[in-house]
Amino acid sequence: MGTHRQTFALETKGEVQAIDITAKVTEVIRDSRLKEGIACVFTPGSTCALVTNEFEPGLMRADLPAVLERIAPTDAEYAHNQRGGDDNGHSHLRSAALGQSVSFPFGGGRPLLGTWQQVVFLELDVRPRSRQVVVQLVGE
Ligand code: ZN
Repeated sequence: MGTHRQTFALETKGEVQAIDITAKVTEVIRDSRLKEGIACVFTPGSTCALVTNEFEPGLMRADLPAVLERIAPTDAEYAHNQRGGDDNGHSHLRSAALGQSVSFPFGGGRPLLGTWQQVVFLELDVRPRSRQVVVQLVGE
């Protein structure tokens, strides 16, 4: 059994921005020289999320932002904002609903994802951010 960890950076533009990171994750798997195992992709942040889904403009630019607006509307009242926060209460709650990590098996130097399934980083904060994505691999 071996492990391999690599971190890469993302510069984002602010909510709601979907970034396809499948190619970067695949690169990490290839660099590791591990043949098969489990990949955990994680982002340290409380106003962003990671999902696996179809990276398609209709979903990522229209449907997903619309659903997130229903889950935690931008202009609703949040205790986080009233405490002199950074006016991103909705961003935190969307992030909490979606989660900050995804795990999946890899084999043959690539993630074993579905044809219409990409690894997608979601910026949910109200302003541009510098983000980190950690890819932790365990395998052999
Ligand atoms: Zn905040």
